Amino acid sequence: MEFVKADLFQSSASPVQSEEQFDTDLFVIGGGSGGVRAARIAAGYGARVMLAEEYRVGGTCVIRGCVPKKLLVYASRYARDFNDAEGFGWTVPAPHFDWSRLIANKDAEIDRLERVYQSNLEKTKVGIVRSRAVVEGPHHVRLAKTGQLVRARVILVAVGVTASALTIPGGDLAITSNEVFDLADRPEHILIVGGGYIAVEFAGIFAGLGSRVSLVHRGERLLRGFDDAIQDHLMDAYAKRGIEVLLNSKVDEIQRSGNALEVRLSNGTVRRVDQVLAATGRKPHTNGLGLETAGIALDDDGAIPVDDHGQTKVRSIYAVGDVTNHAHLTPIAIREGHAVADTLFGGKPSPILHGLIPTAVFSTPEIGTVGLTEAVARAKHGELKIFQTSFRNMKATLSGSDERTFMKLIVHAVTDKILGVHLAGHDAAELIQLVGVAMTMGATKADFDRTIAVHPTAAEELVTMRTPRN
Ligand code: NDP
Repeated sequence: MEFVKADLFQSSASPVQSEEQFDTDLFVIGGGSGGVRAARIAAGYGARVMLAEEYRVGGTCVIRGCVPKKLLVYASRYARDFNDAEGFGWTVPAPHFDWSRLIANKDAEIDRLERVYQSNLEKTKVGIVRSRAVVEGPHHVRLAKTGQLVRARVILVAVGVTASALTIPGGDLAITSNEVFDLADRPEHILIVGGGYIAVEFAGIFAGLGSRVSLVHRGERLLRGFDDAIQDHLMDAYAKRGIEVLLNSKVDEIQRSGNALEVRLSNGTVRRVDQVLAATGRKPHTNGLGLETAGIALDDDGAIPVDDHGQTKVRSIYAVGDVTNHAHLTPIAIREGHAVADTLFGGKPSPILHGLIPTAVFSTPEIGTVGLTEAVARAKHGELKIFQTSFRNMKATLSGSDERTFMKLIVHAVTDKILGVHLAGHDAAELIQLVGVAMTMGATKADFDRTIAVHPTAAEELVTMRTPRN
């Protein structure tokens, strides 16, 4: 086989120089989104590929992240749908929710997806090793289960991140997003620590499923880095849903008290709850992975520094996905894994370019965002035109719901280019995907204006706003 980037494989530190001495062309550590994609694409190009996974194939996204989370989000929204139905003439008997049935169905779907991931790897002849793997040199990986040393032409590290625990007295009594999907019972009252994606998503999920929710965040606003107007909209919507949001607050201590947990907050008050969920970020899973012994210096967070081809300082070791501290998003890891395989084995050198990243938060209301926030756009480009609207959905006229949709377009005052779009409301995630296409193509406000509206939809507001905000 022709390896286009053969020069990349040569490591002066390597004791293994000739191709015949390698057991495999690519050894992938981690069977999540980035690792699986790289393995399958590389194997498709004819490379000999091995992939080690110590837990379950599919990684965080499939096993205990995006996929099960979205299933729980769907479940949580039925409560609102049952209410809405009455205004449209339906009589809905008092609905009953069964947490155990939801979790069992979710587990069955995750098992199915794991089998699909595994069989896709097997179809492309990727050798799956069910073991922890530790790097022992630029071309060497040790399998913890058997002690076997594998000689790999290239090592790709795609081990992702792991949930941070609370470092306070009683912090070990809190669960993280790893355990939240497998709780035996739905908590009557859950206290969630954090103000990022996971915290606000699970606040919405548990509130929808009927739990009391207290959200405790150390910052002044939820979702740091999002547009101010989106942060305000979410705060408003969560207050209306009865979610207790405590800003500028910390958890000082957690104590067990019978079946409950007593949580002492920095404002001196105590909440008595069934569960505490720590959603305080995720750290690269590099502890004990042996990268330092191979000559790779990790950054302060434990992330692996890479260049724009995913290559580390050690030429035969690559890394993709969350472990590199790029945006912690599944599509980013997939894009990177694909690019590395194309570069190394496909004859298509593919720098990892992220460009615009559309992203969604599956809170209820849902949030979709792409491009710059107003604050960042102003700092970077000066004069802007801001178009924004907030309206009650048509469906709400009969359902009586007070849910509102919010939309904001940030436009360069001189070039007319759309710099950012921020949405909150029904299907915001679906909408922002398509806005992302337009923005990737360099759309201007004039392009939006000449687009024929689809009526009656919420999305038509995106192309009918004409008067900039003062
Ligand atoms: P985030 O980094 O989004 O949020 C972490 C939150 O915890 C922040 O509000 C942060 O506050 C707070 N925090 C951090 N350390 C502490 C501490 N010691 N005490 C109290 N609060 C603390 O992480 P998440 O855990 O929510 O999510 C992890 C990653 O997973 C995200 O980066 C996201 O990209 C990804 N993800 C994406 C999803 C999606 O695309 N829909 C869904 C879920 C996760 P502060 O803001 O002050 O730093």
